[in-house]
Amino acid sequence: MKTVIFDYSEQGKSAYRLPADPHTDILISDIEEAGLLRAEKPRLAEVSEVELIRHYTKLSTLNYGVDSGYYPLGSCTMKYNPKINQDVAALEGFSAVHPLQDEEDIQGILQLLYELEQYLCGVFGFAAFGLQPAAGAQGEYAGLLIMKAYHADQGNAHKNIILIPDSAHGTNPASVIAVGWKIRTVASTADGRVDLADLKSKLSDDVAGIMLTNPNTLGLFENEIAQIAEAVHGVGGLLYWDGANANAVMGYFKPAEAGFDIAHLNLHKTFSTPHGGGGPGAGPVGVVSKLVQYLPAPRVEVQEGVYKLMTNYPKSVGRLHSFYGNAGILVRAYTYIRSLGAPGLKEATENSVLLANYMKSKLADHYQIVSQGVCKHEFVISLKQEKKQYGIRALDVAKRLMDYGFYPPTIYFPLIVSEALMIETPETEPVEAIDAFVEAMIQIKHDMIHEPQLLLNAPHVTPVSRFDEVKAVREPRLSYFR
Ligand SMILES: *Cc1c(COP(=O)(O)O)cnc(C)c1O
Repeated sequence: MKTVIFDYSEQGKSAYRLPADPHTDILISDIEEAGLLRAEKPRLAEVSEVELIRHYTKLSTLNYGVDSGYYPLGSCTMKYNPKINQDVAALEGFSAVHPLQDEEDIQGILQLLYELEQYLCGVFGFAAFGLQPAAGAQGEYAGLLIMKAYHADQGNAHKNIILIPDSAHGTNPASVIAVGWKIRTVASTADGRVDLADLKSKLSDDVAGIMLTNPNTLGLFENEIAQIAEAVHGVGGLLYWDGANANAVMGYFKPAEAGFDIAHLNLHKTFSTPHGGGGPGAGPVGVVSKLVQYLPAPRVEVQEGVYKLMTNYPKSVGRLHSFYGNAGILVRAYTYIRSLGAPGLKEATENSVLLANYMKSKLADHYQIVSQGVCKHEFVISLKQEKKQYGIRALDVAKRLMDYGFYPPTIYFPLIVSEALMIETPETEPVEAIDAFVEAMIQIKHDMIHEPQLLLNAPHVTPVSRFDEVKAVREPRLSYFR
């Protein structure tokens, strides 16, 4: 079967025609004479124009994205990115400015960044946000640097322990290590929330703070947040809110009012900017008033109606990105906020939470739901029982979902759930897409019992099926030729 473009290659076929123009000949001979051509011709496929076009068109359809279907990837908020965001980001005043232009020439983008910060403060209750971090993980890193600077200023440089619940996202412990601190793990209760008694037993004078995801990675709201805040503040520690998944709470929960001192957001998740495949992103770091002086610099300030990029903050943790951060992403997030308005942001939260609970209740008769009670924007299923009974793992269900035309959910996370499937329902999904996904999941349960091979060999519709993912990462083969 012909699968790659080289299979269509035949000597003499060509997808281009050079003009029979003497100038072209002169140019080519000039290049040859100057010794600019390599001695050996590169091995390129020789195909006709239509073969070339079909090749690339076919390749483009192998991509799966939020524009092609429902993307249930838990903890990632793969919501639809409205095209107006793209249009606005492409406006010349944003896309064509040079970062070294005079401030008076770039008042527009500076005003946008200033207002974006104000909006984020309004939604989450913090005194200020630094917009520089380019990802959630970098926001965490920035937040911990701020925490470190604060403790040092308080004469508490010995504080070097961060409490992290065992359900946390992997970037949390990684960020702690990156700033040279240590991790103390807090256990979860049977229902998947922070075990307050265990947390209290882990407190000591050297605790610098706690990093908390709320709602946590089971999609559950930490309802003892006031007690947690009191306990951690009691030993002089600070509360860090991992707000990567703010889709579940924006407009309803202001972390700063609940006792959190520092937070990061993932604009590329909650605020509908394209992500996946490693970026670009934006992970603004928010702080309460006593920590504003430590924010990364430069920051945008307004003086007598003129926006300025200020760098004069002696206590700042410094620069974390060139110029303003990932400005294009910030423009998209700003557009999303402006086009929805405050009521729209609340509605987005309501719909994502509603869809998650809708799907959860529809699947409850067929699968073991770990996230008990009302969940937020996502929930977790365990296939522990299915593994024992039918030899089917979370991986097999994820792969089989591709045959039904869906992107697989997050699997094997959070780590505290065995055979976990973590499903998120962004508010931009039509209920029909959610229903179709539920139907596929129910059919998969049926297949699992009656025809398990269908799952074990899935996916059947993709060019490659199961492969050794570890080997693919360690020994990538990046060209067609061996
Ligand atoms: C996505 C995510 C992060 C990390 O964000 P990146 O932009 O990928 O670095 C951190 N915490 C949680 C809970 C997340 O879901």
